[in-house]
Amino acid sequence: MVVDDTLMQIAKEVSVCTNCQLHHSRKKAVPGEGPAHAEIMFIGEGPGFHENEQGRPFVGAAGKFLDNLLEQAGVTRADVWIGNVVKCRPPENRDPLPEELSSCDAFLERQIEAINPSIIVTLGRFSMSKFMPGAKISQVHGEMRKVGNRYVIAMFHPAAALHQAALKPAILADFAKLPELLKEARAGLGKSAPAQKARQVIAEDPKQLNLF
Ligand code: URA
Repeated sequence: MVVDDTLMQIAKEVSVCTNCQLHHSRKKAVPGEGPAHAEIMFIGEGPGFHENEQGRPFVGAAGKFLDNLLEQAGVTRADVWIGNVVKCRPPENRDPLPEELSSCDAFLERQIEAINPSIIVTLGRFSMSKFMPGAKISQVHGEMRKVGNRYVIAMFHPAAALHQAALKPAILADFAKLPELLKEARAGLGKSAPAQKARQVIAEDPKQLNLF
């Protein structure tokens, strides 16, 4: 199965999942979104009010801040995959429970395996704990660690930085390092930068196409 089909299949399963109690209050599940071959996956906590309405990740206030942070790192949403450790909204935005995290984990694992990103950026404590059990976010944020076949960078959750002004400089500095860290990760994995953009420019220029 090609990666797009795999991701669509996972999204279909997520939309009707009843593996944990979160499905009772679900309006729309939020499987996550982004290109099938994204080099960077951002993994947050779980959908909030707006995400539950729209079925898309990070579309509320924290999402707008995330868009600014991405821009600062020289990327747009179209370049990266964005999702969460739980795919349905916890009531009143409470923390996800251990059984909800473990019921949803297989979906995230399949998404990571299909996309095979070079870097996973965890946003907040819950996604950090999946890859760095026992770590303290105040100590490890912004550091890149090799975990299995890829690199993981823990960052503060954008919503936390919106509510606690003291965290803002750290999240800004961590996002600013992302382009350098991506180069490092590619080198460490023996991967080169995707040539996708250059190909698009050529494909959009019919004169140039005629030359071949
Ligand atoms: N917070 C998250 O962790 N994920 C979302 O999708 C939105 C807000």
